[in-house]
Amino acid sequence: MSQGGAFQFDKDSLGLLREAIERMERGFSSLPAFDPPHVDEAAIRKVLLEVAERMHDNYPYFHPQYAGQMLKPPHPVARLAYSLALHINPNNHALDGGRASSRMEKEAVAEIARMFGWDAHLGHLTSGGTMANLEALWIAGQLRPDGVILASEQAHYTHNRISGVLKLAFESVPTDRHARMDLTALEDRLKQGGVGTVVATLGTTATGSVDPLPGILELRDRYKFRLHADCAYGGYYILASNLAPPARQAFDRLRDVDSIVIDPHKHGLQPYGCGCVLFRDPGVGKFYKHDSPYTYFSSKDLHLGEISLECSRAGAAAVALWATQRLFPLVRGGEFAGMLDECRAAALTLHTDLSNDDRFVAAFEPELDIVVWIVRAETLSRSSDLAQRFFADSARNDRHLALAELPARYFATDSKAPDPNASVVCLRSVLMKP
Ligand SMILES: *Cc1c(COP(=O)(O)O)cnc(C)c1O
Repeated sequence: MSQGGAFQFDKDSLGLLREAIERMERGFSSLPAFDPPHVDEAAIRKVLLEVAERMHDNYPYFHPQYAGQMLKPPHPVARLAYSLALHINPNNHALDGGRASSRMEKEAVAEIARMFGWDAHLGHLTSGGTMANLEALWIAGQLRPDGVILASEQAHYTHNRISGVLKLAFESVPTDRHARMDLTALEDRLKQGGVGTVVATLGTTATGSVDPLPGILELRDRYKFRLHADCAYGGYYILASNLAPPARQAFDRLRDVDSIVIDPHKHGLQPYGCGCVLFRDPGVGKFYKHDSPYTYFSSKDLHLGEISLECSRAGAAAVALWATQRLFPLVRGGEFAGMLDECRAAALTLHTDLSNDDRFVAAFEPELDIVVWIVRAETLSRSSDLAQRFFADSARNDRHLALAELPARYFATDSKAPDPNASVVCLRSVLMKP
């Protein structure tokens, strides 16, 4: 934003879109001409401008002063590639529906797998992290049909529900004062037996805490459970160069888990919906086996539709991801990795500022790019009220934060043992934008 100037969306790149559409058109120029559906510009214009008005009723998610929920504007290259692909509107349910975009999906997903250290894998894109976790736990349930699913009390709320859908028992594991899965509590539960799968969250949604994967892997050696890593929000941080040692060590061991979920529509610069599920053992493909009489004609290879629970999926999402990774390869020290370093650096700066401000109590140092803090007050309920007021006042000044209810022990300041069950409304900021 220029000084004193008003905010402007990027419109300059629309010229590139026209050029690319014309290039794409040329590939189909041998087809006989046909009359495309009539475009009534006047009527469409009226509706479109009405939509533009309706869209005013949004928080300015794309603006730096929106630092609340986990929202990040897609990169222009993703937006343009998605729009370009929409003129074909491929469906990645099978090669019949989207040949080019299926190949691009396989390439893009293989690059994500390589980022985690896997040369071989089975995986594909999904509509989002929830569907991706559903598939990972579905496979886990096929392999451990009688086993309980364990995840930390700070794991994403959908794991409990997904387990319900899959008719698998679910239990949550307490967290330590950094909102990470408590290894002692995990081992206590493992000793009781019956655990099939443990979900480690690398980057919790509320606080960006990273579960202690090296310790969890040690327990796996002894207790032989299946291990799934939910990295929907945090996964790309494997590329960052400024993580504290516990988070670094956790990301460095990701290659040893059985399955991974990551959301390109969170930190990967993609529009919704783009999630991704990866399995280390390609052999789990056998669980997806099904007979569809009408979708697979054109190839004997394993199609994406044969290794996905969803049938129709947006080929445009794969095209957008492929284009983005072409521009920003998923490598350490690259431009994309630098963006993540900046997000974490911003979170550390905010955390330091809050720690030096008497009005607030900051939680533990952020491991990724989410900062949580409370308003200093005599009681937790007073603190919660003040947080809500601060949130509303900030929003009126176009500074957008988020609220979260978290265990009060994350904010313990003195040595007296905090009430393990007390919670408090805190302020939360996700600093995931440039
Ligand atoms: C966002 C998130 C999910 C859910 O993903 P959606 O893309 O919103 O469906 C799951 N787990 C974690 C850790 C998340 O941050």
